[in-house]
Amino acid sequence: DLVAVAVWARGTQGIPRSSGLPDDLFVHDGQITKRPVRALALSALAPRPGERLWDIGAGSGSISVEWALCGGTATAIEAREDRVANISKNAAAFGLAHRIIVVTGRAPEAIAGAEAPDAVFIGGGLDSAMFDAIWSRLSPGARLVAHSVTLETEALLGGLHQRHGGELMRVEIAQAAPLGRYRSWEAARPVVQWSTVR
Ligand code: SAH
Repeated sequence: DLVAVAVWARGTQGIPRSSGLPDDLFVHDGQITKRPVRALALSALAPRPGERLWDIGAGSGSISVEWALCGGTATAIEAREDRVANISKNAAAFGLAHRIIVVTGRAPEAIAGAEAPDAVFIGGGLDSAMFDAIWSRLSPGARLVAHSVTLETEALLGGLHQRHGGELMRVEIAQAAPLGRYRSWEAARPVVQWSTVR
């Protein structure tokens, strides 16, 4: 697992400075915020050196890794143990194990004792109880970015945007893929991103 990052970094001229690294640089089981959407997540999260992120529903930890590459620290919270193992592997592969705290458990309970963050990314498990619990922990000026792919979470984000403002965006990406002798656009599921400041 360390190999993918090392080989890639050696074969090219190091790891790019921009967010949105290739998905296959991360150990994952398919549940990963894909490269172009991850770039949009990091852009909205706006990491600065020394800042702390809560990455809720961290999956592979790709968001935490890209945040930490920008000089911050991250607490990655993930409910599934098999995915927690992937987060640890990815943090180690990028040489960031000292900057990423991995928490096994369900948010918001699992972050009850964590130090308040400068930014939060919610990539899984969002419901109104979770939102209230997290929002109440944020200091003024903290950024919150949430992604949804379901109609239910999208409806929640619509209401939160109405109440709290910020920016609500729907991203629809299609990639060219073979269709017989031709090519066609293969659409990914739309992702809704809400980003706001406490
Ligand atoms: N951003 C991740 C992908 C997130 S997939 C990446 O780039 O890899 C969403 C994840 O949220 C899943 O792994 C799921 O297990 C986790 N999850 C769902 N509800 C959760 C909760 N309440 N607390 C912690 N993790 C949760």
